[in-house]
Amino acid sequence: MRIRSFEEKQGILYLVATPIGNMSDITLRAIEILKSVDKIYAEDTRNSINLLKHYNITTHLESYHEFNQETKTLDVVNEIKSGLNIALISDAGLPVISDPGYKIVKEARKEGLRVSTIPGPSAGISALIASGIAPMPYTFYGFLDSKQSKRISELNDLKYVNHTIIFYEAPHRLKDTLTDMYEVLGNRNICIARELTKTFEEYIETTLSDALNLDTLKGEIVLILEGYKENNDESINPMERIDELIKLGYKPNEAIKETAKQLNKDRKELYKEYSDYKNK
Ligand code: SAM
Repeated sequence: MRIRSFEEKQGILYLVATPIGNMSDITLRAIEILKSVDKIYAEDTRNSINLLKHYNITTHLESYHEFNQETKTLDVVNEIKSGLNIALISDAGLPVISDPGYKIVKEARKEGLRVSTIPGPSAGISALIASGIAPMPYTFYGFLDSKQSKRISELNDLKYVNHTIIFYEAPHRLKDTLTDMYEVLGNRNICIARELTKTFEEYIETTLSDALNLDTLKGEIVLILEGYKENNDESINPMERIDELIKLGYKPNEAIKETAKQLNKDRKELYKEYSDYKNK
């Protein structure tokens, strides 16, 4: 089905980007659209009202969130069908991206209705371009599961993805997530992008192993993680690295496990290699 967004007819869904922190990060077109539509659906009306007031937008506001989307989706689609122009916004950034909206888009498209994007900031892609980690190819993952067993299984599925991966994470889960990443994926470069566009914006360029020693971080966080790489660094001799760790007080098994992680090597193979090396 081919649908032109700029046809002269009534009834359209606009997906409107809003700021991810700094109120000024909104486009002129977003403001125009929010002023001109019949109704705005927002994830949290109490939060969005501040933005709307700031820009003198007086359009009628209703809620559309994770917990009412099952019932509300059909209402919204029927409103568009009846000729209303509707805007959907979320608390920050692009609606639909780790935020509600996909269900309406899917239903509206199924019904042959017009859906149009009003682009603007999104935390993940904004963090990616400033991270210093290869911007392409990338995989946007969003939030890992909050349950550790599921999170570990998700990370296992991502283990050999050789794209940069974008994650969102809540500050109170950061330490656990970084620990699980290190355990499952081994050592990798990571950029922790915090509080983007706000007063305490910060980028921490580090590795997973060093990130585990960071003090507690607050605020909103995006993790830009380097993708899987075959370890081709010939300058590091795995046998010597294991011996070094043993000298530092690691038990041989732990030293092998740690070296396998640091050099992205298979632990069992490394174990065999090390015992051959020792029995020479
Ligand atoms: N729809 C949003 C987008 O387009 O980026 C994402 C919404 S998601 C529910 C919220 C998460 O996005 C936060 O937990 C954090 O991981 C990330 N985020 C949002 N704003 C951010 C900011 N200013 N700095 C860093 N991360 C941010």
